[in-house]
Amino acid sequence: MLGRLTLCIPLLLLLVSGPALADGKVQVVASFSILADFVREVGGERVAVASLVGPDADAHSFQPSPADARRIRDAKVVVVNGLGFDSWTDRLLRAAGTRAAIVVASAGVKPLREEASHGHGHDHHADHDTDPHAWQDVANAKLYVANIRDGLAKADPEGRAAYEANAARYLERLEELDRGIRAGIGAIPPGRREVITTHDAFGYFGKAYGLTFTAPQGVSTGGEAKAADIARIIRQVKARRIPAVFLENVSDPRLADRIAAESGAKIGGRLHSDALSAPGGPAPTYLDMMRANLAALRAALAE
Ligand SMILES: [Zn+2]
Repeated sequence: MLGRLTLCIPLLLLLVSGPALADGKVQVVASFSILADFVREVGGERVAVASLVGPDADAHSFQPSPADARRIRDAKVVVVNGLGFDSWTDRLLRAAGTRAAIVVASAGVKPLREEASHGHGHDHHADHDTDPHAWQDVANAKLYVANIRDGLAKADPEGRAAYEANAARYLERLEELDRGIRAGIGAIPPGRREVITTHDAFGYFGKAYGLTFTAPQGVSTGGEAKAADIARIIRQVKARRIPAVFLENVSDPRLADRIAAESGAKIGGRLHSDALSAPGGPAPTYLDMMRANLAALRAALAE
């Protein structure tokens, strides 16, 4: 009798906790791949994380599916970027009727505004003017990590010590990454620190590390690049001898190809702007992504 009872208890617990907790981990859903990577670093063994927008995919134009609503409904913690980047999560969270704790990773970031040159002819939604790509400055990534650490500890107090230890370790690696980027960009001749990309995803990177980025599309990939903007950029590339035009992992390459062809600038490679690569690709983690971007910039902009 006793033997049978002991056998039954684990099974009973498994049934009570339901499928979402079957592996005993805290279920976390992140809106896009870079946040999921931060959650993995901070959460370690205690969490299971899923990303709604997948590798190399564009979060600006993402259309959530009913399966995404189910993932949100079953999550204990949902991590979003904020700053208008993933505002489709608002509707999704309402529709899913979730009781998950919501962590806005960018809380405390000082937002950059979209450059005035892209402002003409755009719809002037409040969100539209805010540049959401704050993770491109490692100082902001450190804020993201602190917010995720605090959000996980609040939702899972038993894990607090683990989250704090993991975050402290990872923050040190981010500090080291930041120093590496400063040194790497510092080695590029000042006259060559100018780059063209497809959409305006590198404002924070440029401001933090001293590079000028220009893009025919604004801070979202949704807007059609206007012929006048493309023509202006082609003139700018020629007049200022801007060395390279970059492709992005989340954007259609044709616009960058066209600017390169018409201006005589070379294609400098591919930058990871709004998503990591798949595992096995060049940028499966945030640390890899920032190092890959730095390497691509250095290779294209060195004399
Ligand atoms: Zn973007």
